[in-house]
Amino acid sequence: MHQICEEVRELLQKLVRIDTTNPSGNETVAAQFLEQELGKDNFECEIIESKPTRGNLITRLEGTGEGPSLLLLSHLDVVAANPAEWSIPPFEGAIKDGIVYGRGTLDMKGMTAIEVMTLKLLKRNGVKIKGDVLLAATADEENGGFNGVSWLLKHHREKFMADYVLNEGGGASIPTRSGNIFTVNTAEKGVMWFKLKAKGVPGHGSMPNTAVNAISPIICAVEKLCSYKPEIVYVPTVKAFLSKVAEKNPDLREPFEELIGHPEKSMQILDSLASRGEPLAEEIRPRIQLTLTPTMLLGGVKANIVPSECEVTFDCRILPGQSVDSTLSLIRGLLSDVGLSELGLEFLQTCNGTESSMQTVLYQTIVDVLCEFEPNCTVTPTLLCGGTDSKFYRVQGSICYGFHPMHTEPPIDGKYVRREHGIDERISIDNLVFGTSVLYETVKRFMT
Ligand SMILES: [Zn+2]
Repeated sequence: MHQICEEVRELLQKLVRIDTTNPSGNETVAAQFLEQELGKDNFECEIIESKPTRGNLITRLEGTGEGPSLLLLSHLDVVAANPAEWSIPPFEGAIKDGIVYGRGTLDMKGMTAIEVMTLKLLKRNGVKIKGDVLLAATADEENGGFNGVSWLLKHHREKFMADYVLNEGGGASIPTRSGNIFTVNTAEKGVMWFKLKAKGVPGHGSMPNTAVNAISPIICAVEKLCSYKPEIVYVPTVKAFLSKVAEKNPDLREPFEELIGHPEKSMQILDSLASRGEPLAEEIRPRIQLTLTPTMLLGGVKANIVPSECEVTFDCRILPGQSVDSTLSLIRGLLSDVGLSELGLEFLQTCNGTESSMQTVLYQTIVDVLCEFEPNCTVTPTLLCGGTDSKFYRVQGSICYGFHPMHTEPPIDGKYVRREHGIDERISIDNLVFGTSVLYETVKRFMT
C-alpha cells in the first residue's frame, strides 16, 4: 500500500506541473507523459490529436471477450488559475500537511492518476478480466469537449466506445451525523443557450414617438420568460436521491415524501425547508424543473439615442426527458404576444439532458464496494445541473457514471468549500489512496 501511495501521489504531482490551462489546453504534453508512465507497465498507448497540441490518449487492457467493456475516462485540461490569488503556486504540485495542492487536483487530474494506477494494478496483479478495460485521458472538456470526447466519438468511435464509462461528476461523500452519503452521478441536465434580438428604428431620445425602441420588446420577453413557472418533474435519479438522503436524515423523510407525492406543492415545501436553514432546499430546486436565466443584456449606445438594437442571452437548463425541441416550442408559446417572429432567436449551444439507469450490475458493485469500505455509508445517485463529457457517451448508448471516490476534505474555518475551479484546489494523499482502492476494487469485481 505504501508503494501505491507514493506512485499515485507522484503521478498527480507530475500531471499538475504540466500546465494544461484551457484555452489553449496543450494536452499533448500531458498525454505523452502518461504514455511514458503507462509504458513502464508495458501498456501500448495511442495519442490522437484533434488539432495540433490537443492530444487525447487511449489505451486498453484486453479481456477474454466474455463481458462488457469499461472505459475509465478523464480530461487532461484544466481551467485558468491566477497565482496571485493562491497561497501555494497552482502549477507546482507542492505538498503541505499530506495534501497535494494545484490546479486540476480535483478537476480532474486526481482522478486521472487514480485511473492510471487502477489500470496498472489490474495488469500487475494478473486480474483475469472478461471485457476490455479502456483508459482515455482527453482534451478540451473545460471548453465543451469539441476538441476532445465529442470529436473523438465522431472520428474514432471504434477506439473510444465502451459499454460502461466511469468519469468525473460524482463520488464525493456528503458527511451526515449517521455516516457518509456517497454520490454517483447518473444524470445531467441539458443546455440551451440562446440569444433573443430585437430590431427597432433609431431616433432622438427627445422625440421617442418618431422612433421604435428595441429595448421594449426585449424587456417584455425577459419578463415573460422569468415569470414562467416551469412544470415540476421528478426524474428517477432525483426520486432515488431524495429517498436515500432521507434514510440518513429522518427529519427530512416527511417533507421529501411530500415532495414526490405532491409535486405541485414542491415550491412551498422547499420554501419552508429553506426558511428553517436546510441547505438541500436550494440544491433540489433546479433539479426538479427547467431553469431560464437571463445572463447578458446589451442595448443602446448613447443617453439621447433611441436604440435600434437590443439583445438578451439566456442560459436555459432542461431536465433529462425535456428535449431541446419541445422546450423551443414552449418558449415560442410564452413569447407569442411579444412576437417571437419579430425577435430573432439564435442558439449558441444546445444539448439534451441525459440519464443512465441505476439498475445495473456496475451500480450495484459500486454500492457493495463502498459499503465494505464503510459499513454505515449510504450511496445515492445524483443529477448534475452542469455538464461533463459523460453526456456524449450517454447519447451513444453507454451506461455512464460520475464516480471519483473520495471523502469530503475537512472544513476550513467551519465551512465546506468546493474547490473545483477555485482557489487553492487540492486533494489529500489519503483521498488518492482511498480513491485508488475503491476504484480498483470496483473495476476488478465488475470485470471478473
Ligand atoms: Zn472536470
